[in-house]
Amino acid sequence: MIIKKADRIASIPPYLFAEIDKLKAQARARGVDVIDLGIGDPDQPTPEHVIQALKEAATDGANHRYPPYEGLPEFKKAVAAWYKERYDVELDPETEVLALIGSKEGIAHICWAFVDPGDVTLVPDPAYPVYRTGTLLAGGVPHTMPLTAENDFLPDYSAIDPVVAQKSKLLFINYPNNPTAAVATPQFFADTVEFARQNNIVVCHDFAYCETTFDGYRAPSFLATPGAKEVGIEFNSLSKPYNMTGWRIGFAVGNKDVLAALSVIKTNIDSGVFNAVQYAAIEALTGPQDNIECMNQMYMRRRDVIVNGLNSLGWDLKPTKGTFYVWAPVPEGYSSKSFCALLLEKAGVNVAPGNGYGEHGEGFFRIALTVNEQRLQEAVERMRQQGILFTRKR
Ligand SMILES: *Cc1c(COP(=O)(O)O)cnc(C)c1O
Repeated sequence: MIIKKADRIASIPPYLFAEIDKLKAQARARGVDVIDLGIGDPDQPTPEHVIQALKEAATDGANHRYPPYEGLPEFKKAVAAWYKERYDVELDPETEVLALIGSKEGIAHICWAFVDPGDVTLVPDPAYPVYRTGTLLAGGVPHTMPLTAENDFLPDYSAIDPVVAQKSKLLFINYPNNPTAAVATPQFFADTVEFARQNNIVVCHDFAYCETTFDGYRAPSFLATPGAKEVGIEFNSLSKPYNMTGWRIGFAVGNKDVLAALSVIKTNIDSGVFNAVQYAAIEALTGPQDNIECMNQMYMRRRDVIVNGLNSLGWDLKPTKGTFYVWAPVPEGYSSKSFCALLLEKAGVNVAPGNGYGEHGEGFFRIALTVNEQRLQEAVERMRQQGILFTRKR
């Protein structure tokens, strides 16, 4: 029999990390002790009180049945209270909060609710890949908004062709940003509301790193911007703040009509999040929050090891304000791919090539601060020993 796949599968760009993954596997097979700074997944466990809440909820038979599609009322109330407390944003738990099976699920499915074949979405580059692939799977056309160092890795709305802007249905942004670690200014969010309003574009702000911030900086919610709730929604998740990536629970908040449209797609595709996981998430959101500060102190110390370490090797990096990534340029004469291959071959250090996040990521690499300080220090020392320095021709 001939297995004929849908065209939409062929529309998905090739997986750019495949080659580096292969090199990593080969190095390990040769017995190299690879320091893997490629993966953006917290290395610390979920807080104990959250695990306890799961255990208790899992033994209650009432939780073994189908959950409510849009999330338990108690979960939605906990999200609304958390948003009020942390970001001073008012949400109606009934209409302005929607539970997700992780924010990735919602980001992929929002395209099915708003993008018809041929419709345009505005997608940052470099970026988390799901904005682009979600658009492509729905038959849409992603329009690239380059994120450049000169513009502090914020998109420049004035550079978007007004005809394209008028045709666009969705706009994706993400701050604190993966992979560049950039943060947004209140002015940028205000400009986003204005641009969206003028062009009738639904804004989707991905706030996955909402709580991962340093040196006293607090990341604002997009929804705290005047008028934001009229133009868009925010995706959020328990994955990064509470070390819960494996649990698969997130949520979308904001414009009720946008959420209702997303909910139509979801009720026809999935059947919600296991109630016991929702009860554990309620415990995470409403219980002691000291773990967040503790994680941030840890990531900040790791950031300092990498930023100071690379700066001692010739880089000129500023301390990041958020996320657990460091985004750095490759030395003169290298591409993202060739530099990452060199780091792996000579130093046994794996990092993510910037072009894996889009063509404008070319010339950069991303370090994930998800291994301990000692290993990060060792990665820097191995680079020093191998003479891997940052140089730029003048
Ligand atoms: C980790 C991450 C997500 C996905 O988180 P889940 O809630 O676990 O699906 C979304 N966006 C960005 C930018 C991320 O880095």
